[in-house]
Amino acid sequence: GIAIEGLAKTFNSTRVLHSIDLRIERGEFITLLGPSGCGKTTTLRCVAGLETPSAGRIRIGEDTVVDSELADFTPPHRRRVGMVFQSYAIWPHMSARANVEFPLRRRKQGSRAEQRAIAARALESVGMSAYAERYPHELSGGQQQRIALARGLVAAGEVMLYDEPLSNLDAKLRVAMRDEVRRLHDEFGHTSIYVTHDQEEALAISDRIVIMNAGRIEQSGTPQEIFDAPTTRYVADFIGFEN
Ligand code: ATP
Repeated sequence: GIAIEGLAKTFNSTRVLHSIDLRIERGEFITLLGPSGCGKTTTLRCVAGLETPSAGRIRIGEDTVVDSELADFTPPHRRRVGMVFQSYAIWPHMSARANVEFPLRRRKQGSRAEQRAIAARALESVGMSAYAERYPHELSGGQQQRIALARGLVAAGEVMLYDEPLSNLDAKLRVAMRDEVRRLHDEFGHTSIYVTHDQEEALAISDRIVIMNAGRIEQSGTPQEIFDAPTTRYVADFIGFEN
């Protein structure tokens, strides 16, 4: 699982996260949901190691990956988290296969044959075996996002982090890929944090939804709980009730 305690972040004297406390059980799929600017991405980037918290501590499994009081900081590629971004962020000069092998080569994990086998399995999981030798510019947006997904799966130990991974895709593909993301989570037994501002997507994909507002957690619960019993006006408005 993941434990986030007292997480705060300030950019140029503006506080964007106010003491976030959040525990995610092993195997759980949670979604951070909220409007633009509420701090979802910053929270995710702190877990990934792409931002340094101003205060607080984060544990992944048994490992404390950052503790601002102890000045502990595990760099991103040692946290063994798989990350998938809205912008795909795959290397244009590398084939699909090379992109997926990249996290393993960087960590010098296993022999070349083992790296190839792991990458081949990940490409198969996302239905992209036939495209392994293609370069990103020869792939559609959905296919590029599948490559990014396969690379995330290869990089992940227990944890997958998703930042609006489907928002560049058209509506139909978005629904298909969202089911696929959830299937892969279950199949690999991951602990996942998913960021979106799309209520419907959050309701469909999550075990638990965490609603954020201006750098704070407003409510956390199952999709059913959030939908049936919003505890604040903000939550009710955000998930689309009239009053
Ligand atoms: P979105 O859905 O638009 O991505 P978000 O909920 O993910 O929004 P964040 O990206 O976490 O929000 O941003 C939270 C706040 O922090 C915003 O006001 C943003 O402008 C600010 N912010 C984020 N990164 C930086 C940075 N590197 N420097 C200064 N301010 C930043």
